[in-house]
Amino acid sequence: MDIATSLPLDGPAGHALKPPAGPEAFEHRNVRQGEFWRAVPKYREVSEATFLDSIWQGQNSIKSPQELLETVKDLVEPSFFDDVREGFARAPMAVRVSPYMIASIDWTNPYADPIRTQFIPVASKLRADHPRLTLDSLHELEDSPVPGLTHRYVDKALFLPLNVCPVYCRFCTRSYAIGADTDVVEKVSLAKSPKQWHDAFAYIASRPELEDIVISGGDTYQLAPKNITAIGDALLAIPHVRRLRFATKGPAVMPMKILTDVAWLDALSAVVDKGRKLGKEVVIHTHFNSPNEISWITEKAMNLLFARGITVRNQSVLIRGVNDDPQTMQLLVKRLGWINVHPYYVYMHDLVKGVEDLRTSVQTSIDIEKYVRGSTAGFNTPLFICDAPGGGGKRDVHSFDYYDRENGIAVYSAPSVKPGKHFVYFDPIDTLSPGAQLRWQNEGIAEEMIAEAVARGSGTRSYVSA
Ligand code: SF4
Repeated sequence: MDIATSLPLDGPAGHALKPPAGPEAFEHRNVRQGEFWRAVPKYREVSEATFLDSIWQGQNSIKSPQELLETVKDLVEPSFFDDVREGFARAPMAVRVSPYMIASIDWTNPYADPIRTQFIPVASKLRADHPRLTLDSLHELEDSPVPGLTHRYVDKALFLPLNVCPVYCRFCTRSYAIGADTDVVEKVSLAKSPKQWHDAFAYIASRPELEDIVISGGDTYQLAPKNITAIGDALLAIPHVRRLRFATKGPAVMPMKILTDVAWLDALSAVVDKGRKLGKEVVIHTHFNSPNEISWITEKAMNLLFARGITVRNQSVLIRGVNDDPQTMQLLVKRLGWINVHPYYVYMHDLVKGVEDLRTSVQTSIDIEKYVRGSTAGFNTPLFICDAPGGGGKRDVHSFDYYDRENGIAVYSAPSVKPGKHFVYFDPIDTLSPGAQLRWQNEGIAEEMIAEAVARGSGTRSYVSA
């Protein structure tokens, strides 16, 4: 008997059946299928085997407006390329976009596309920076005891062994260090050689309180297999280290590597297995932002990780024009759950320079969280977070001590991270009322507004509404 049809539609006696779900309840399962890349002129003759080759993906990544033009050709108007050229010149991040991402963009409307928005700057969309933006908004360099290591939380450290990624995100928190120098930013050097890594391992070994190490960068996708093994072995050998997280955007932007770079996946799997035998957890933390980033290739790659017993958690950034509406975020969260990726965090966009068009207000995050919560299981519902500027660490967006919505100033504190200090997040100025936008133009008034908000935040929790 078909178990799905064995119940009468009006339910067993005394029980009401929930009405069948409409098509919208299944939208998250509709991931992109087929050889979708062939819609892009340059990839028209590219076979599946070639498209799934991560070396081909790396070699054919777009790094200049000219390469983009040669790839998408007449899919877009010439004026778009003029806009792109100007956007590249003003970007704080170098540009690098994988063919997989290029093929996932809707080129009939690139201005509105969430993937184009994340990776390809266009000058016409740029906005003036908020006056309080910086390049290293999280002050990672201040909490860095040796090059390439940030030790902020008591039991956790962030190890940055390289400064390259399979793609470069316009909104990168580490635009101060990641990728090549650009016309507007000269990058800080991280610990890029195995010899420098040794200093980081020695520091971690000398601090018995450190139990949790995030290996990021840059992106661990770009680590050679032998270096995955070297880093994994060195950290697992430190008795007090209990948890490793390999951070990579790779599953979102180049999922085929998991399917075809056997040496890389085997090296990672071996570290995971070794950790498990030692009673230590080794996982992947990744970074999907748009449901459009997920295709059949992603699904297959995540199935392979799942089959190998590798946990994958996701950390999204809330980005204007990408995922800043409730329905899109809900779709992303449910699609991640469908492919066995745990939607762990949704961050407020950091206060980094040059990408003000991408930031949203704290209120936007609060509203989206309210909508998303309840649409799926609680363990698959992300925490909406503000990584408090100035080194306060991750705070629940709702946990502000004070939020002046009119002037866009949210005040947070972090008693277990930096007791007694307050951390301030600023909403994008163009989302504020005309009066508030005027006030921010006056440095003296701006100082007073911030001081007032911090003073209120230091007292009883309260807020003013716009
Ligand atoms: S992959 Fe991560 S580290 Fe690299 S550019 Fe994107 S956000 Fe920055």
